[in-house]
Amino acid sequence: MVTLSGRSVYKGIIIGPVAVLKKDGQQVKRTRITDVEAELSRLKMAGEQAQVQLQKLYGKAVKEAGEASAAIFEVYQMMLEDDDYLDAIHNMIQTELVNAEYAVAMTGDNFSEMFANMDDDYMKARAADVKDISNRLVRNLMGQEEVDLASMEPSIIVADDLSPSETVQMDKEKILAFVTVHGSTNSHAAILARMMNIPALIGVPVNLDEVNTGMQAVVDGFKGEVIFGPSEEICSEVEERIREEQEKMKLLQTLKGKENVTPSGQKINIYANIGSVSDVGDVLENDAGGIGLFRSEFLYLGRDDFPTEEEQFQAYRQVVQTMAGKKVIIRTLDIGADKQVDYFKLGKEDNPAMGYRAIRICLKQPGIFKVQLRALLRAAVYGNLSIMYPMIISVEEVRRIYEIVDEVKAELDEDQVPYKMPEQGIMIETPAAVMVSDELAELVDFFSIGTNDLTQYTLALDRQNEKLYDFYNPHHKAVLRMIKMAADNAHKCGKWIGICGELGADLELTEEFLRMGLDELSVVPSMVLRVRKAVREANI
Ligand code: PEP
Ligand code: MG
Repeated sequence: MVTLSGRSVYKGIIIGPVAVLKKDGQQVKRTRITDVEAELSRLKMAGEQAQVQLQKLYGKAVKEAGEASAAIFEVYQMMLEDDDYLDAIHNMIQTELVNAEYAVAMTGDNFSEMFANMDDDYMKARAADVKDISNRLVRNLMGQEEVDLASMEPSIIVADDLSPSETVQMDKEKILAFVTVHGSTNSHAAILARMMNIPALIGVPVNLDEVNTGMQAVVDGFKGEVIFGPSEEICSEVEERIREEQEKMKLLQTLKGKENVTPSGQKINIYANIGSVSDVGDVLENDAGGIGLFRSEFLYLGRDDFPTEEEQFQAYRQVVQTMAGKKVIIRTLDIGADKQVDYFKLGKEDNPAMGYRAIRICLKQPGIFKVQLRALLRAAVYGNLSIMYPMIISVEEVRRIYEIVDEVKAELDEDQVPYKMPEQGIMIETPAAVMVSDELAELVDFFSIGTNDLTQYTLALDRQNEKLYDFYNPHHKAVLRMIKMAADNAHKCGKWIGICGELGADLELTEEFLRMGLDELSVVPSMVLRVRKAVREANI
């Protein structure tokens, strides 16, 4: 029996057989070629085949994990056409007279190493992507079938790392858990695992040669542990815990339709966070009272040009119509920092988390902002829509936003386009916003606390940096006092305040948030009923 620890991406517990996924089976030999043109044309065909494969994967991912998660396959398609990447391969074939498989494999390694050595965590994560694309090209060149991940028996996948293509090809029904040696919580595999509600551990120091496909293992996402070859005693303990978890899940279902009210009669709204239109199904399925955060920037990611006003309008309209009168809070684009989009041409920054991002881009480039505002004001006609502005640090910013909104209204009037003026709130996610929250409260309709960023800026800890994991403590007194201060200032002004950062779903803090008088908690859809349970049992 071997017990190893890692970082849990999704909390759950499971026991089952292991499927080890090794990727080093691809032996690429260097051979000398004489016909350069023939080699280039083989490469071209392999690329075309890859485009078709990726298009299929995209379609599958959209259905299973939503458009935002699927967008990576569009990025892959673009990477396959990247001039630098293709030039490097062509050049190697032409000058070194080597076979295409070898040129692709070498270029893939070189590019991947280059990304891995970059400072930026997001770019580092791209190393796996370029490897994934190169492996696909090599497989196509060698005429190998893709590993059929869809046809295996339900298993715990143990791998070095998992690329998005591998994760999405897997049949959800057949995956019990993921355990990987590498990967950050920011990797696509981790994001997909969370979206798919699959228990997952990353950063587990497992030697793939020492575990075998078919052996039993336990993955405990609560403790962040995997046990290979568990004893009978452990197995029966774990089976009991699994039964308890299933029982809890069943009990949670009985909370659908019930109020979010404490035994002492205090009420709170429990809303859900979404990243795309396709997430609305989960919101309704989990009986959330509304949408507390629609991260609209996902409409801008994974594409090569700005979404048009019409595209945005259709997306927002669809969400508010489907929510049928329930509150839908749409956050204006929060591009920058970890969410980079080439066509914004933001350039490289030494300190992107503190850089040109979110509302700063909107205020500096009002042309981009106005397109989104027009779409939002138009969609507001169709339901209960509110707008929320991210990364605010001052009252001056809010005043400037209102001036731009007034210009948009005047333009819509002039164009005789129907619209409605929604409620406007701001995210409290910088210490500056907390410190001037008394003045901000007078200007806006509501506050929503972004605890992910508020924690990073209060504690001066980059939320993307894996090395700082042990220091990143959103329970830090300083963070909790900031939340309390913002809540008091909102209430003094008669405004409501909620939390839409991850901390809102932290059940250890539900009672404290109720004591602070927070009016709303917006959490991932799968946590709505759990938070409702915590509220209904809260001892206030
Ligand atoms: C936050 O910062 O807490 C938040 C909700 O926004 P995001 O995680 O998208 O930055
Ligand atoms: Mg934020």
